[in-house]
Amino acid sequence: MNSPLSGLPKLAERVSSLKPSATVEMSERIRQGRAAGRKIIGLSSGDPNLATDPRIVEAAERAIRGGETHYSTPAGLPALREAIAAYEKRRSGATYDAADILVTPGGKFALLTALMGVVGPGDEVLVPEPGWVSYGPCVRLCGGKPVALAMLDRIDVQAVEAAITKQTRAIILNSPVNPTGRILPEDEIAAVVKIAEKHNLWIIFDQVYADLTYDRPVAFAQASEAGRARTLVVDSTSKTFGMTGWRLGYLAVPSGFAKQIVKFLQHSIYCVPPFIQVAGIEALRLYDEIVPRYRSMFRKRLARSVEALSKIDGIECHMSDATFYLFPKVAGDDAAIAKRWLDTLDVATLPGSSFGGPGAGHLRLSLTVSDEELETALTRIAKAGIGVPTV
Ligand code: PMP
Ligand code: GLU
Repeated sequence: MNSPLSGLPKLAERVSSLKPSATVEMSERIRQGRAAGRKIIGLSSGDPNLATDPRIVEAAERAIRGGETHYSTPAGLPALREAIAAYEKRRSGATYDAADILVTPGGKFALLTALMGVVGPGDEVLVPEPGWVSYGPCVRLCGGKPVALAMLDRIDVQAVEAAITKQTRAIILNSPVNPTGRILPEDEIAAVVKIAEKHNLWIIFDQVYADLTYDRPVAFAQASEAGRARTLVVDSTSKTFGMTGWRLGYLAVPSGFAKQIVKFLQHSIYCVPPFIQVAGIEALRLYDEIVPRYRSMFRKRLARSVEALSKIDGIECHMSDATFYLFPKVAGDDAAIAKRWLDTLDVATLPGSSFGGPGAGHLRLSLTVSDEELETALTRIAKAGIGVPTV
């Protein structure tokens, strides 16, 4: 059969060579499976099962009815940028002027915007592994070359130094880490800031899980003066407020840089819909009321799942510092176990190897289903085990 593309010019290499997103593709498979009648329990996508607070929804509704339905200022509504600067100050201690904040459609686009701003053709960017699946592809979309840096348990300063070449332009750090749930300690962040100064690199610091922490505080790259000067901060309302579908995030940049980078927003999205931004202002206003509740809910779910999984032969599971992810070690082929659980238990997880080679031998479980569904999934997993003989 002829491909629908035969006889047409070939697609741009930037798209045809791009690896599909393992996280998004799994969500699509689940959607299709459910449409066909399967009752799959989805422990694969980082989409918290939180209904957006009704007050946030009402704020957006009022804004739509009130006429916030036009093009708006590309950098974002001044009131939202002010609120984000205050939120940043409170969490990381870093001082940002509203002018240093750019509002984006989600953290993913904040990442792409940051990379568009600092990566040129052939530039290298160090990306963490295991790490979120979109880092490498976003670097490629900007014409750059991702260089994987293994950091499962720690950042090896010598390995970072060894990976740097004349072409290295930036390093991406993510803390708390997707997929491991680890918080990068302050000394590791400080060491990276030092290396970035020495080699004159940008740091892209992805902190989208910084509000879902348990006992340890997050160390922020922008907290020190040296870090603040060369860090582009990626953040989002998705995970903190259960607002993944609203597509609302931001980028905080070193002073003076926003005026340059906003041109990318002018020529691409123009702006985030203003009524969505109004919802973001309301979400930040409600932070103290709603976020601690979400935090304690995820903490309980994590602890319960660690307890249940730890009893299973061939699984080694520790409590995460943050996020709603668990990243247990499994004594077997992670991709085969994830496939078996999906095919035979209707429980969707992701193999650790989807997050890069150093993630192999692990599974990522996203505890973003109801407590009831989670119990069902844990019971099925406990019964089936990892399905390979262990010694
Ligand atoms: N960074 C990390 C580490 C993530 O896991 C995600 C999840 N999608 C994002 C950024 C972007 O999220 P969003 O675009 O929904 O804000
Ligand atoms: N970040 C989430 C995840 O890792 C959502 C999907 C995505 O954007 O990759 O599952």
